[in-house]
Amino acid sequence: EKQQGVALVIGVTGIVGNSLVEILPLSDTPGGPWKIYGVARRPKPDWSPDTSVEYIQCDVLDRELTLEKISPLKDVTHLFWVVWVNRETEEQNCEDNGRMLSNVLDALLPNAENLQHICLQTGAKHYLGPFDAVAGNRYFQPHEAPYHEELPRLPVPNFYYTLEDIVFEAAKKKDGLTWSIHRPSFIFGFSPWSLMNIVGTLCVYAAICKHEGLPFKYPGNRITWEQFVDISDAELIAEQEIWAATYPHAKNQAFNCSNGDVLKWKRLWGIIAEKFDLEPLPYKGEGFSLAEAMKDKGPVWDALVRENKLHPTKIEEVGNWWFAEFTLNLPQEMINSMNKSKEYGFFGFRNTETSLGQWIDKMKASNAVP
Ligand code: NDP
Repeated sequence: EKQQGVALVIGVTGIVGNSLVEILPLSDTPGGPWKIYGVARRPKPDWSPDTSVEYIQCDVLDRELTLEKISPLKDVTHLFWVVWVNRETEEQNCEDNGRMLSNVLDALLPNAENLQHICLQTGAKHYLGPFDAVAGNRYFQPHEAPYHEELPRLPVPNFYYTLEDIVFEAAKKKDGLTWSIHRPSFIFGFSPWSLMNIVGTLCVYAAICKHEGLPFKYPGNRITWEQFVDISDAELIAEQEIWAATYPHAKNQAFNCSNGDVLKWKRLWGIIAEKFDLEPLPYKGEGFSLAEAMKDKGPVWDALVRENKLHPTKIEEVGNWWFAEFTLNLPQEMINSMNKSKEYGFFGFRNTETSLGQWIDKMKASNAVP
């Protein structure tokens, strides 16, 4: 059997990394059969998909270590960038995330002769602004939804812009090296180690409410409860990235990547409640701080982990409260246009309500939540 693509997935245990390593080895995946290298800092967890990945432990912020571990991977043809680190300020995000990508490219460009394509995953904060700007710490005129790919960059620092510029420069240095940029909305997927896992976080909140007999109250604002938002299924993102990596007409383009439907959190709240046998309470128009409400629940989570024989996790790992607060308190409607992606030939979609139910089932079946 002829080996075609050789994938290097940086961020292999993350929310999209997991889906990439599920899908790349399938027999009908374009560009395959794929050989896969996967990189993360921690050792391979036992919930990682049971597929053949050459797992490499490496902190790509460490330049020496990255050159040592990545330079020998001379057969890599496709780089999938599904990783990030989160710092206090966006300037620091630009600095550290940019350094990580430069380190990996400096290891690959002189050594991986057959490197053909870079898939860079960023996100809808390309249009909305980075966390500190959305929180009101910087003034700028936000774009109006639906967002489309050709909107100009916002006049604030954004590590997504830094990463794009590094990729553009790399492509100039190597003949025939192409790229694609993927901009998902909020991601529904599986990873107990993700920095931003909204499904996992809300499952932890629901499980704690159930256990303690607390009301399952919506912590967000009226905008997200009542207005349309869009969501991105992690498998769909992986499919679009593999499509762009292997389809000639999709090269050197940025693509939004959302499910293709719209929904209100009002609906999704009911689905989560049902999965945890809770009452979905009517919204009274007042949000509250989930981080504050959950700050003393560490021991409750530890007990749930013990009693249900879950994978050992700490509440800080699986309850990304700050991210849930951001997601459910958007200052404006957020919809990403899928027109360009369809015009170029990617017709993938997901039913968001089905997707939510499936990821909750996956979290439960993998013993990540009770
Ligand atoms: P995750 O946080 O889910 O996963 C990150 C992965 O990278 C993990 O495998 C982690 O494992 C690994 N990792 C982190 N730091 C390093 C490092 N220094 N060296 C090597 N590996 C590292 O990633 P996402 O998929 O969420 O994020 C990718 C991009 O998608 C980001 O730009 C993000 O902003 C964007 N995005 C995410 C959304 C979401 O809802 N999650 C929504 C829209 C966009 P370990 O910790 O063991 O190293």
